Amino acid sequence: MRGPERGTLRAVAQLPVSPVPGRPYGGLCEACVHRREVPNTRGSRFLLCQRSRWDPAYPRYPRLPVERCNGFARSAAEAG
Ligand code: SF4
Repeated sequence: MRGPERGTLRAVAQLPVSPVPGRPYGGLCEACVHRREVPNTRGSRFLLCQRSRWDPAYPRYPRLPVERCNGFARSAAEAG
């Protein structure tokens, strides 16, 4: 399996902090360059994995929180 996986304790130590306190936590997707946030009209939000467009190993809407993913690439905004 190359796509997102539910993780191990080793991966948990590298998880980013949710940018908005109290908001559902998406794990690695929160800081990934492939992530796109999709809000709905009822105030919920979904994390779309844009990598799923060209790589079938990645689900369009990953099961959250994603704790380990071979496709993770830190976004410039999160790099600090
Ligand atoms: S590549 Fe992995 S970490 Fe990045 S958005 Fe897709 S599922 Fe999330």
